[in-house]
Amino acid sequence: MLFSKLAEYFFKIEATPKRLEMTDILAELLKKSSSQEIDKICYLALGQLASLYEGIEFNLAEKMLIKILAEAYNSKESEVKKMYKEKGDLGEVAEELAKKKVISHKPLAISAVYDRLREIAEVSGTGSQEKKIIWMANLLKELNPLSARYVVRIPIKKLRLGFMDKTILDALSVAEVGDKSARPDIERAYNVSADIGKIARVTKEKGIKGLAKIEAEVGVPIRMASAERLPTTKDILEKMGGKTAAEPKFDGLRVQMHLDKSRKLNERVSSEQLSLLGEEIGGPWVKIFSRNLEDTTAMFPDIVEAVQKLPVRSLIFEGEAIAYNPETEEFEPFQETAKRKRKYGVKEKVAELPLKVFAFDLLLIDGKNITQEPYKTRRGRLEKLVKGREDTILLAEEQEFTDPQKLEEFFMEQIEHGLEGIMTKRLDGVYQAGVRNFNWVKLKRVEAGHLADTIDCVVLGYYKGRGKRAEFGIGGFLVAVYDEKSDSFKTISRVGSGLKDEEWRQMKKRVDALKTKEKPKNADVVKGLTPDVWADPSIVVAIRADEITRSPMHTAGAREDEPGLALRFPRLMAFRDDKNPEQATTVSEVEKLFRQQRR
Ligand code: AMP
Repeated sequence: MLFSKLAEYFFKIEATPKRLEMTDILAELLKKSSSQEIDKICYLALGQLASLYEGIEFNLAEKMLIKILAEAYNSKESEVKKMYKEKGDLGEVAEELAKKKVISHKPLAISAVYDRLREIAEVSGTGSQEKKIIWMANLLKELNPLSARYVVRIPIKKLRLGFMDKTILDALSVAEVGDKSARPDIERAYNVSADIGKIARVTKEKGIKGLAKIEAEVGVPIRMASAERLPTTKDILEKMGGKTAAEPKFDGLRVQMHLDKSRKLNERVSSEQLSLLGEEIGGPWVKIFSRNLEDTTAMFPDIVEAVQKLPVRSLIFEGEAIAYNPETEEFEPFQETAKRKRKYGVKEKVAELPLKVFAFDLLLIDGKNITQEPYKTRRGRLEKLVKGREDTILLAEEQEFTDPQKLEEFFMEQIEHGLEGIMTKRLDGVYQAGVRNFNWVKLKRVEAGHLADTIDCVVLGYYKGRGKRAEFGIGGFLVAVYDEKSDSFKTISRVGSGLKDEEWRQMKKRVDALKTKEKPKNADVVKGLTPDVWADPSIVVAIRADEITRSPMHTAGAREDEPGLALRFPRLMAFRDDKNPEQATTVSEVEKLFRQQRR
């Protein structure tokens, strides 16, 4: 298929506010694509060149793109800047410039454009910035105006067609069987092997049946299982059938660690990752994926070394990495641990903030996928592997309980150690990739007058603010939760407190970097809450509140006959850079929390 055709599809998708229509257009596009290009189409439609875990970054800032547009269309940078100011979108600027200039457009295939974009993203070494500028400008010269509109938005992460991977899963189902009925099969495969391009290709080549053969493999992240909430230890034991395992709940960073001793660490590593990892680290191949399945290997050389020492051929296991202060022998709060999630000054931070990983689940060992074995069996294998070798990697303490009182005591012990609470695990539960269910149930400390849990929200924009805050240019921000049913964001609160001066500045900076001219398509916001500056839904923050109430101002959980749900006394607790927007708290979770607090 020609890239210009793909651009027409993107245009149609961009023009419709209706989700069903969007899914149908996408389905038609996927249906018409060949098996050699369907993976590329999926990545491009999400504004990427590969799955996030492959870590392919353009490293082209807006400033550079302005240069590129000037070069491609024989214009002055000042002219491009002026147009950008007027339009607020470099894609539209490119489209208009391309219309004005007579350039010889070439009928480039999707794969050809994709390959060139990849080349631009991956070029490294001396002179690479110049090469990026020239190659990108040359590419733009060959594209028609509508194609230029979309190609320009990709490097700056502003494609914004208004959907995420869940809509692609629906569209794949519609393309394959005519309706959404195959979505569960497609989603199962995606959960165990989180590469949307691969899932689309297999669906195209082998049909829905072919997806059943997709299994976890070392190197491709497994979408992580998550936990339900229940308010008391009695409820938990009832739900678990009278018996449960319990572990401390650490408030750190979830890590999924992959090891393959038949490969070398430096194999198939992007140049950026390699330079971050440093020359001195060699040895067997390890990958560390974060909660949002980003490749964070280079950030954790201490964990890499510890994983390499484990006596197995291959492995996928999970744990919680948490900063540990060796002087006070205490765990650091989440905000401290989160400082280890960085690209620069890694070495210094390793020394300053050493991490411990509390391993809690084993998913694959020596090539064998064991996610479908009962929890207790997986835990037994994990113990055998880690016990006696504990150093950076430790075993999360675990006990079994039948008595709610005893479970409560275990919970209180964890709170006294400064931890968040406990995670309870169904003894015969399988590891259900990508799913939140009652195989795991979390119980957190509830402070009087507070909600039982923080709510992970997505920032949709900010208000400029008056008084003292006016000096920062931000006085409050609008947050939303994720609605799985419509793959969109529904507002739940306006937050105006809980931030230190530095955090206000940071919030403004982050939103400004994602600013959009209009309301993002996948955000459901009532008029009265329109922020001064809109943000593409991307920043995830943990918000604590006292209570969930009903409010006609918010769209989370709103129905025709019922107003929406809102947070009372919301305040910012942390930026959750380890989460993707669709990993924010969902509308149905908020509804559950609302019902629980009223019991
Ligand atoms: P949630 O993601 O909200 O369902 O809460 C579960 C999170 O708690 C996981 O994603 C882990 O990051 C974290 N966690 C901390 N301790 C444990 C543990 N012992 N077992 C499983 N998850 C844990």
